[in-house]
Amino acid sequence: MKKTNFDVLIIGSGLAGLSTALKLADHKRIGIVCKTELTESSSHWAQGGVAAAISPEDPISSHINDTKNAGAGLCDEDITEFVASNSEKALDWLMNLGVNFTKNKQNNDLHLTREGGHSQMRIAHVADTTGKAIQEHLIKRILSHPNITVLEHHIAVDIITSEKMKIDIEKNTCLGAYILNNKNNHVETFTSNHIVLATGGASKVYLYTTNPDVSTGDGIAMGWRAGCKVANMEFVQFHPTCLFDEKDRSFLISEDLKG
Ligand SMILES: Cc1cc2nc3c(=O)[nH]c(=O)nc-3n(C[C@H](O)[C@H](O)[C@H](O)COP(=O)(O)OP(=O)(O)OC[C@H]3O[C@@H](n4cnc5c(N)ncnc54)[C@H](O)[C@@H]3O)c2cc1C
Repeated sequence: MKKTNFDVLIIGSGLAGLSTALKLADHKRIGIVCKTELTESSSHWAQGGVAAAISPEDPISSHINDTKNAGAGLCDEDITEFVASNSEKALDWLMNLGVNFTKNKQNNDLHLTREGGHSQMRIAHVADTTGKAIQEHLIKRILSHPNITVLEHHIAVDIITSEKMKIDIEKNTCLGAYILNNKNNHVETFTSNHIVLATGGASKVYLYTTNPDVSTGDGIAMGWRAGCKVANMEFVQFHPTCLFDEKDRSFLISEDLKG
């Protein structure tokens, strides 16, 4: 029988959902649901790489300043500092999982490139398919972990909360989610007191985007309906170099071209 009760239910199988699952799975029973296949996500299409100030000539303060400058005064300072200060640790975690970042032939150090907004060479990458390479390694770990159940072709429809169920407890609490099983067309009830919304962005509200078809923002809408705060919806990334085809999906042309 299919299991529908978890300590933590993660909605979304991009790098946010998969890495959260791996961080929790040694102590909690985790369910991951995703709209289509595990790999279908923006994460899979990310090419250029991961920014991290790891070279001795590149202090973390420089990464923080570059980020703030690129953000034109709109960055959240605490988050900017947290992300820049922890990026080396995050890269180490990925390398320990086996992600094979491209190395310099001469000294076997990480090969770093430079991208828009960065004053230093600080982009670690796996050739030109970084997101795919990272996701493949995380998926390998996810599929072999005894505490993780993966349910593909399962679309989260709504979060169940105590308030919606008219249960009289002091604080509005998450109880689970309604999930559409796209294989049999049934909406199933999953129970969990902790839900992670890792459903990515909402770029498909635009006619042309390099994001995949799953980026429809329904997770953000679910969070809003459950009483979460929603912020920064006006920030959407558009890639300037995109191959346009009238009939097919538009896709990003290599980051190298921009360089
Ligand atoms: C072409 C491209 C190139 C990029 N290049 C880079 C780069 O070089 N460097 C960089 O740092 N970033 C890059 N990005 C951005 C980066 O890929 C994203 O910021 C990141 O991958 C987002 O990860 P995520 O896990 O939050 O979301 P995603 O990877 O988009 O995952 C969302 C997941 O949620 C699932 N989902 C959505 N709604 C539901 C639902 N209702 N029910 C069930 N599942 C649902 C989807 O199926 C998917 O599994 C790029 C993005 C694109 C599109």
